[in-house]
Amino acid sequence: SADNTLAPLLPGATLGVLGGGQLGRMFVHQAQGMGYFTAVLDADPTSPARLVSHHHIQTGYEDPQGLAELARLSDAVTTEFENVPAAALAALAAQRPVSPAASAVSVAQDRAREKAHFVACGVPCAPYAVIETAEQLAAVSSDLLPGILKTARMGYDGKGQVRVKTPAELAAAWDSVGKVPCVLEKMLPLALECSVIVARGADGGTVHLPVQRNLHRDGILAVTEVFEQNLPPALAQQAVAAAVSIANGLQYVGVLCVEFFVLQDGSLVVNEIAPRPHNSGHYSQNACDVSQFELQVRTVARLPLTQPRQHSPAVMLNLLGDLWFAHGDAAQTPPWAEVLALPGTHLHLYGKRDAKRGRKMGHLNITAATPEAARATALQAAALLG
Ligand code: ADP
Ligand code: MG
Repeated sequence: SADNTLAPLLPGATLGVLGGGQLGRMFVHQAQGMGYFTAVLDADPTSPARLVSHHHIQTGYEDPQGLAELARLSDAVTTEFENVPAAALAALAAQRPVSPAASAVSVAQDRAREKAHFVACGVPCAPYAVIETAEQLAAVSSDLLPGILKTARMGYDGKGQVRVKTPAELAAAWDSVGKVPCVLEKMLPLALECSVIVARGADGGTVHLPVQRNLHRDGILAVTEVFEQNLPPALAQQAVAAAVSIANGLQYVGVLCVEFFVLQDGSLVVNEIAPRPHNSGHYSQNACDVSQFELQVRTVARLPLTQPRQHSPAVMLNLLGDLWFAHGDAAQTPPWAEVLALPGTHLHLYGKRDAKRGRKMGHLNITAATPEAARATALQAAALLG
């Protein structure tokens, strides 16, 4: 319950985070850099954020004692993981300010509720149907095919999704995901994908990062590019306005990422939201004067929000575990020294011990004076990484 009458938490206070993944780690780094103490709750003893946090509570999100300990240690709490049970956030909120609120996170973690929220905000999304029963499955309009069946909960990086062309394929796909609640979305003709990071304070004020243009491979974000003229300015403005109205509609406090599709006819369609910093916002660490993690610290600590300014064109390359296997089956360290010899390259690794194919191990931010130079360096880095 972020309360706009509360005073800011100044450096020296302790900020708690639910979840110990890489987003939690980068939040912890940022908070500590600004003079805060940190507490992380995560069941994994080797979680990336745990390795760098002042305090660590090694337990699951459902453990009432662990949550009570997090509340005791922390002056305010945030989350880095959208699938934290809303009940855990609600329990914490009884004791400490929590942002984002359980009510907002619970919308973001359920694709059916998320889409209903987009409709309520008047922001166009893909035509869809909710499938929770055999009757709903049978009643699906053929207008939605070909489509993508997505589990309503727990999907990420393209997981929990099946592409279907016919009613028979749809029925088989719903079977294959265990008949859990799903949404079926019409397959749209995409021209490109983009996203916006919005930060909204307890006073309702919002700031945002520049609109990011994203390239996915196999359902996983691969590359983000951010520079002027990367997107038609009117489209970027439309995306920011839509993201702000989605955040306002949720009474959101914190950092929110809104992902969009731009269709081949030029229209903008919202895809999904993440109630936390997002992979596509990582470029802000090196290309903006305020990063998405600083925005998160500021919203949790109720510090003023100032509009970030991008000072360099940027390209972000995701570093998946596959790069460790570029030369065969034995894991090898990628050639970091050669990569870092390229001007404007900034390496971020998450401290994950074992590289696995498809696992997000880190990212490389590339900044340059011009978009062309940033792209050229990104191509050189990608060639070195194999
Ligand atoms: P995730 O939670 O795994 O990121 P998304 O819903 O964002 O799931 O889908 C992952 C990717 O699949 C998108 O970034 C996009 O490339 C593609 N995709 C998803 N939905 C559609 C759609 N309705 N039409 C066309 N492509 C889609
Ligand atoms: Mg997505």
